[in-house]
Amino acid sequence: MPYHCVAYGCGKTAEDGVTLFKFPKDPEEFRKWEKQVQRTRALWVATPNSHLCSEHFGKEYFEPRPPTGL
Ligand SMILES: [Zn+2]
Repeated sequence: MPYHCVAYGCGKTAEDGVTLFKFPKDPEEFRKWEKQVQRTRALWVATPNSHLCSEHFGKEYFEPRPPTGL
């Protein structure tokens, strides 16, 4: 079974032309990713095999943008 993106409403696989990224091994990062997904999927629980596609992967997506103009 191919991996699919866990983001709400996505579910894309590599066959859809996206790159899939496995959740980080670092527990802190792992929780960050999980929390981000939980914003739209409250009861969802991440597993070590959870993936996000390149459309939902990125630092901007997981961290608030730093204030600009400093
Ligand atoms: Zn996705």
